[in-house]
Amino acid sequence: MTLRVAILGSTGSIGRSTLRVIDRHPERFEVVALAANRRVDALAAQVARYGPETAVVADVETGCPDCAGSTRWRSGAEALCEVAADPTVDVVVNALVGAAGLPPTLAALEAGHRLALANKESLVAGGSLVLAAARAGGAEIVPIDSEHSAILQCLEGSDEKAVQRIVLTASGGPFRGRSVDEVRSVRPEDALQHPTWDMGAKITIDSATLANKALEVIEAHWLYGIGYERIDAVVHPQSVIHSFVEFVDGSVLAQLGFPTMELPILYSLTYPERVDDGELRTFDPVQAANLTFESIDHEAFPMFGLGVEAGRRSGCAPAVYNAANEVAVAAFLEGRVRFPEIADVVGNALDRIGASTVRDLDDIIAADRAARTAATEASERLGNARMGTT
Ligand code: MG
Repeated sequence: MTLRVAILGSTGSIGRSTLRVIDRHPERFEVVALAANRRVDALAAQVARYGPETAVVADVETGCPDCAGSTRWRSGAEALCEVAADPTVDVVVNALVGAAGLPPTLAALEAGHRLALANKESLVAGGSLVLAAARAGGAEIVPIDSEHSAILQCLEGSDEKAVQRIVLTASGGPFRGRSVDEVRSVRPEDALQHPTWDMGAKITIDSATLANKALEVIEAHWLYGIGYERIDAVVHPQSVIHSFVEFVDGSVLAQLGFPTMELPILYSLTYPERVDDGELRTFDPVQAANLTFESIDHEAFPMFGLGVEAGRRSGCAPAVYNAANEVAVAAFLEGRVRFPEIADVVGNALDRIGASTVRDLDDIIAADRAARTAATEASERLGNARMGTT
């Protein structure tokens, strides 16, 4: 029996990697829906190749192309949710970028589908709602994030009471080892050069600020039900060890491999089964020699501490942190704020909006909007102040 797979965010880095994995296992998987935000040409090329039942352009303004063939083209955020909830789908791969991934995450889980989750922002912004949706639908979330896939693999067969601590590894990004002064003037093109992972722009900047690692701490908290005091992160520049799990008897398990997202993607689709992939690079301990570890530099990378603190505050604070970060990253990429100001913009939004309780999706949406407004204003103030002085 083939698994019917819907891929949301199919034209991005994870979406394209997912299609490569599926290409190698045509007997196992069938692509039944593809969705992209606005890259219509790339999506149309994928549709021509895979012939899915449905294709969605999430951005309504971009609109659907005039395509021949049997694929039904749809547009808009609502169509994303309908694809995610389609009862004939088995697995929904959510590789969308940002909190916009939350409604389809909830829809997939409420419908009882396996959610192969790369869109960590949906879990960060709506953690309690996401878990409630999974419970209501009897659905499971299998992370695509390499660290969380590693943790899942290390936890296999263990009682949750046996877990003492989780240690996430972080590559440290392109500015690892630089001081506060040295990161002050870095440019977007410098930040987009990730040393070990080839990813989309948003997550690459998040890796440079270490916001990505804070999002992952929050993600781990929700996925594995572990308190923040028992989740640590360590810089590991080689990205070979994808994370550690320490057990109460002092034993530590780690999952290793040369960095490729295709491994966690394959595992998210076949979990708990392991499948012979054939093409993934064979591990060689000699080539991977000299694995090193460092502490996070909180002074140069304040986004990590801000994010973990937002996680601890709980309520809407993680949604505020995430939304403000999305705005600040976009402003940085457009040259409107400087690298260290990303943390100023996000910290300002957290101070202004706080951490009200989450009862339903509307609470998250309201916090997300307020955070985007606050972050946009703060970014403009910073941009204007600079223009006044130069
Ligand atoms: Mg990761």
